[in-house]
Amino acid sequence: MRDEELFDKVYAAILARSDRYDGIYYSAIKTTGIYCRPSCRSRTPKPENVIVYASTQEAERSGYRACKRCQPNKQELINPDADIAERVTRYIYAHYREPLTLERIASTLSISPYHMQRVYRRVTETTPAQQLQHVRIEHAKEQLKMSDSSIQDVALIVGFKSVSHFISVFQKRTGVTPQQYRKGDIT
Ligand SMILES: [Zn+2]
Repeated sequence: MRDEELFDKVYAAILARSDRYDGIYYSAIKTTGIYCRPSCRSRTPKPENVIVYASTQEAERSGYRACKRCQPNKQELINPDADIAERVTRYIYAHYREPLTLERIASTLSISPYHMQRVYRRVTETTPAQQLQHVRIEHAKEQLKMSDSSIQDVALIVGFKSVSHFISVFQKRTGVTPQQYRKGDIT
C-alpha cells in the first residue's frame, strides 16, 4: 500500500472514531504537537494537519507528545493479532539496518513466517516488507537532510544492499530522487 492510501484509511478511521487502527497507527496533529490513537475523541483535525506514524517512537522522535486523553503510548493491546503486528513493527524499527527476512522476524516471535505475514497484513493492511521499506526510506530522508553522507553511504546506512535499488525505491515512495530530495524542501 502506498503512503497516501494508508493515510486515507487512517484518516477515515479518525473521522469514524473507529478503533481498528488503534495500537497500529498513530495520528499526529501538526497544529497541537500531540499524537493520538486514530479513535481519539478529541476534536477532529483537518487532513492537512495530520501525519500518520506507524509507531509511538517515530511520532516522539518527530517531536510529538502523547495525547493525555487517549494515551496512545499506553499499549494495553486489544487482541493477540495486534500484539503480533506491534512486535513485528517494533522489530523492524530496531533492526532495519540489517538484512531482514520474514523468516528471521518470525523466528523472534516463534511463529511461522506465513502466519506472521497473514496476521500483519490483516491488522495493518501492509506487509512487513512494505513496512521495512517505509522505515528505511524515512531514515534515509533524515540522513539526506541532516548529513553530508553520499547517496551510496545513505543507502548502506539504512539497510539497502545496492544503491540503484535504494534510488528506485526512494523514487517510487516519494516521487523524487534522493538527490532532488536533498536539494529541495520536499518533506
Ligand atoms: Zn488523543
